[in-house]
Amino acid sequence: MNDARSVSPENSAAGPSSPRPLTSAMAAEVERLLSGRTRDIHLTGELRRRFDERVWRQTSKIIRSWLTWVAFVDVLTLALNAILLPHDVALAMVAPACLLPPAAILTALLWRKPCPAAVQRASLLGGMCLILLSVALVGVFAGGEFYERHLTIMLFVATSAITIFSVPLAWTIAIACYALCLYFILQWFNPLVEAGSVIAGTLFFSCGIIATVVARRTMNILAQKTFLLDCRDQRRVAELADANARLERLARTDPLTGIANRRWMMETLEELWRSKGDAGVVAAMLMCDVDHFKALNDSLGHSEGDRCLVKVAGIIQSSVRADCDLVSRHGGEEFLIVLPGVEEEEAVAIAKRIRESVEAAALPNPSSAVGPSVTLSVGVAVKSARDPGVSLDNLQHEADMALYRAKQAGRNQVSIFRRPQRTAEQIAARR
Ligand code: GH3
Ligand code: MG
Ligand code: MG
Repeated sequence: MNDARSVSPENSAAGPSSPRPLTSAMAAEVERLLSGRTRDIHLTGELRRRFDERVWRQTSKIIRSWLTWVAFVDVLTLALNAILLPHDVALAMVAPACLLPPAAILTALLWRKPCPAAVQRASLLGGMCLILLSVALVGVFAGGEFYERHLTIMLFVATSAITIFSVPLAWTIAIACYALCLYFILQWFNPLVEAGSVIAGTLFFSCGIIATVVARRTMNILAQKTFLLDCRDQRRVAELADANARLERLARTDPLTGIANRRWMMETLEELWRSKGDAGVVAAMLMCDVDHFKALNDSLGHSEGDRCLVKVAGIIQSSVRADCDLVSRHGGEEFLIVLPGVEEEEAVAIAKRIRESVEAAALPNPSSAVGPSVTLSVGVAVKSARDPGVSLDNLQHEADMALYRAKQAGRNQVSIFRRPQRTAEQIAARR
């Protein structure tokens, strides 16, 4: 977190585990920042918001645990002082020391959930002011050797906060300036220390605190760089996954018609047969072939032939169930349809509907011997629960044979393959 922007609770709920894709403008900004010098990295806009969102949980956890420990140590020190120090000194420390725990706990509570940046900033800076003031005043109230000692402890507390609070640099500088001013002003009024010594001491501690602030700035920049590298990785992984999905789609679909190709269909069917076994599969297979397609190509040209194939593929697809039936381009002008769970009567009805739809589309095929328009022959083979031994190859072969018969019988028709009925002796012999 390195800016005054804050995180909304809904955003933080999404968490780093659900990265949202970068827009191209954001991706370009990521590349621009990563190509420059690390020290020039400065996140703005949506990138800044996402960065803040990502580091919020960790930052708030660290801040809360630091505040809790400081409160605990303050109470513990107070108790030890009461035992070890003279009574009047320990008593003088009580009032200023009591300021710290409520300030720390209240700030920790405000940092439990994301809230507007102004509230976060005000609570952290306010809490730190009170904590540092409390530590310093303990020394001032106790006086003597405790005066300077507690001012030094106060600077130590400030330095540890600067080091571990991953907050915007402006907040860090504000804490550093406040601690140094507090040190200087209170030391100035320390009766035991001379003015020169106060100035020298302040300059000395300033160097240390400035070095800590610089280190904090470097850590902030490195955290931003890590975030940018992650963004780049995520984008590359997403691009790779996209390219793979595209390749897979290309490998599985027919480029002309956009429907599944033969390979995809065969993979799907093999998977179906594997998962259910020869005995479990119930399906109808429809092998479709455009009649006299060569004649169409010859008379109207190859591109008209291509357009015809696209239209026939569309007609077939719109005639089957989109969610479960499978349609593929099996080869040149052949289409294979598989209707899972469909028995003979329904399969024939669907095959007839497809044939009629193609004929009704009246796509021209002037040289066809069947008629002036494109027609389709369909061979149907069905594997019902009563045919346990029919393999995928068998069924395909049967659909081919039915198609052959439809062609032989004059084309533009549906033919069904009928398996010869086994005799009682054959069944008994098989058993
Ligand atoms: P049949 O009624 O017996 O099926 O006759 P047919 O002419 O349809 O069958 P044949 O196998 O003789 O010819 C198929 C033609 O399909 C031959 C081939 O040039 C054509 N073909 C195959 N793939 C494509 C393609 O992608 N586009 C086009 N336009 N034609 C194709
Ligand atoms: Mg044909
Ligand atoms: Mg053919």
